[in-house]
Amino acid sequence: MSDLVSPFKAFLKQHGYQLTSERVEIAQVVGQQRRIFTTEGLISQLKEGGYRQSRGTVYSTVRLLAEAGLIVQLPQASEAHYLTSEQASLYAVCRCRCCGAEVLYRQPRRLEALRHAPTHRYRLVQPLLVFFGLCQRCERETAKTNNKRSETQSRGLQQASSSR
Ligand SMILES: [Zn+2]
Repeated sequence: MSDLVSPFKAFLKQHGYQLTSERVEIAQVVGQQRRIFTTEGLISQLKEGGYRQSRGTVYSTVRLLAEAGLIVQLPQASEAHYLTSEQASLYAVCRCRCCGAEVLYRQPRRLEALRHAPTHRYRLVQPLLVFFGLCQRCERETAKTNNKRSETQSRGLQQASSSR
């Protein structure tokens, strides 16, 4: 389990944010995440765990954790997806450019090298490696539609030649 709680406490203190037990509990649950997660998913997990934080508190705490660099927000158009910075330093994200499905892909050595790559003017960098591609399901779907298309095309050709 990644210890996200102590650096988070230090961040809150350093930036003059209130350190509440609710925020600490949320940070604990976030530290246990091993997959890509959303704030909504986190809210369900907290509810299941018997925690009573308000949605507003969970949302603001998640934003603070991102601001602290302890989680990274994945580039995304709709609902924000997050990954703990610890997991982001071990796994690349593969995202399907067709359906948006995301899987993690273990790349510790490549990410370690990226972390030590010189960055211009920025310090405390957290690289995030995202591969955009086509997932197996979408690849099969694309192959199917392509086959169908070529089938109808050849059928059309046959019809055209028989009508002649
Ligand atoms: Zn897909």
